[in-house]
Amino acid sequence: MSNEKILICLPDTGLAQLLERTALGPAGYHIVQVTDPATLKAQVHSESPDLIILGENLPAGSEASPAQALEIGSTLLKRDPSLAIIFIPSNHSEELALQALRTGFMDYLHPPVRTGELVQAVRRAIQRRRDLLGWTRREVQRNTRSLAKKLDGLEELQKISHAISASLDLDSVLKAVVDAAVELTGAEEGSLLLLDEASGELYVRAARNFQEDFVRTFRVPVQDTLAGKALNSRKPVILDEKTPQKIMTSYLVHSLIYVPLIVQERAIGVLGVDHRQIGQPFSGTHLTLVAALADHAAIAIENARAFARSELARSKLETILKRIKDAIIILDPDRRLVLINPSAREAFGIGDQEYTGRQLEDIFQNNDLLELLSDAHQTSPYRGEITLEDGRVLNTQATPISEVGLVITMQDITHLKELDRIKSDFVNTVSHDLRSPLTAILGYVELFDRVGPVNAQQKEFIRRVEASVQNITALINDLLDLGRIEAGFDSRKEFVPLPAVIHFIIESLRPRALEKSQRLELELPAQMPLVLGNPVRLKQMLSNLVGNAIKYTPVGGYIHLSAQHQGDQVILRVYDNGPGIPPSDQPYIFDKFYRASNILPETPGTGLGLAIVKSIVENHMGRIWVDSAPERGTTFTIVLPAADHEF
Ligand code: ADP
Repeated sequence: MSNEKILICLPDTGLAQLLERTALGPAGYHIVQVTDPATLKAQVHSESPDLIILGENLPAGSEASPAQALEIGSTLLKRDPSLAIIFIPSNHSEELALQALRTGFMDYLHPPVRTGELVQAVRRAIQRRRDLLGWTRREVQRNTRSLAKKLDGLEELQKISHAISASLDLDSVLKAVVDAAVELTGAEEGSLLLLDEASGELYVRAARNFQEDFVRTFRVPVQDTLAGKALNSRKPVILDEKTPQKIMTSYLVHSLIYVPLIVQERAIGVLGVDHRQIGQPFSGTHLTLVAALADHAAIAIENARAFARSELARSKLETILKRIKDAIIILDPDRRLVLINPSAREAFGIGDQEYTGRQLEDIFQNNDLLELLSDAHQTSPYRGEITLEDGRVLNTQATPISEVGLVITMQDITHLKELDRIKSDFVNTVSHDLRSPLTAILGYVELFDRVGPVNAQQKEFIRRVEASVQNITALINDLLDLGRIEAGFDSRKEFVPLPAVIHFIIESLRPRALEKSQRLELELPAQMPLVLGNPVRLKQMLSNLVGNAIKYTPVGGYIHLSAQHQGDQVILRVYDNGPGIPPSDQPYIFDKFYRASNILPETPGTGLGLAIVKSIVENHMGRIWVDSAPERGTTFTIVLPAADHEF
């Protein structure tokens, strides 16, 4: 018994009733009659009929209108193309029949309609509708199945990619890749082979459904094997049923896929699935899936290798930092601790506590260290000395590194400091003892021409002896000065008007500048605070700096001395446009006897001038630094504390 619903919408309600009673009702169809287009549409919507028998239903008294019926039918078919419509017009014309077919009606009967003919047409239409719906259902099912399969594949891929990002355990990731390859392709076996660079063979790194012994011992050469072919050509190899092959030297397969694993343009292995059974070919979709899985495996291997490399580097670095005798501290750009090694912990006595992320000032109490690192403006490496509580002295180098922060390395130079002290004592004593005989030599040399006539050659020799003795005396005076300043014998200080000191130095050195046709310029503010200091030493400090500028700047050069008052500081700058100081020499030019590598050997000097300047600056609680670049000139900057008094 069929349950199809039929809507009858005919102007002749008598015919409709007759049909229902005699033909369609008894055949088991469920009949609904409607009389006007609006009810018809509403019924179609609510009842979802299988068939409509449509006539030209007219509002009472109006003319028959086939066009209206065609339009209604067309609207209904647009909504449900599987709907069966049998059209019965009031008047037949060939043109109308053609239009009905073009609209998509399933049948066309013209009056007078015989009952038998109509029943036949209804059966045909309903059968056609059933066929259509059946076909659609099957198609939908088929597509759903294939979509579900694809979805399964995608889900599996997603799982694998999640496993890769979540796990650094290469074994489990590769095993998951091979499992997925086997499951998604329905293969019998799967394996992931990697290239052993040393032997040029492929070995099994992960496998599914292979004997364990086989996995452990199995190796194939790259040459003349299918796996090797995929590896060398860097293209997938697919084997189908027609060409069963003995692969891997030991077993027969009927179908197979091998996809190369590519890492940074290099093939490092292959992922393969196969069937030993006949009748199980692989499809293009299988190949796509295995290729996607091979990409995942390659990423996992690359990740694991990169991780192993960085782990190795990290652990090496950690061992070095732990074992090294030098103390090392690394701060981030906000001066928070990133790293401290055991030597640095020991030096500053801060124990084993975790300080990472803490502010520098919260961790260290050493004033030398805090002061040195307070030079936040520095962009290039700088150094200083730090004295620890137990008296040890650390030579400290701070290197600003962009995006890292500040790297501070410290070496214990206590023994060098001690040696330096012993050497200074020795030099002082010797210098002192040398002064008297030198004065005597000079005195007697001056007496030569008083005690008898000397010839021109003897005069020249006497001049040379005098010049040499004066050079030695100058050196000895420098050494003694340095010794005195370092020992702090110049403790007597007074309020010194710097402009007076500066004018004195400029005027006394101007003749030397003029000799070399150099421009010597001065820039002083109207008001300058006094400086609490030793006027002799302050003169010596400026004289050495301006003297150097004149000495090292070539003929016709330019020298500029400026003073500035900033807050509670006085800033002095001595600039020259001379040859500059190579960066590699700059850290050492304030050391005793150090002379930069770019000066001419015949340039007079002892290498003590800047050491004296630095000692004087430090004795006045000031700071000095140099900014210089070869061929771009040199600027020495001195910052001294201003006294409260104004000049
Ligand atoms: P020196 O007696 O050699 O001048 P200093 O201690 O005064 O010794 O200076 C140390 C070194 O610094 C010099 O030998 C020179 O190489 C370099 N130097 C100092 N001042 C200048 C400058 N104005 N221009 C270039 N180099 C300089």
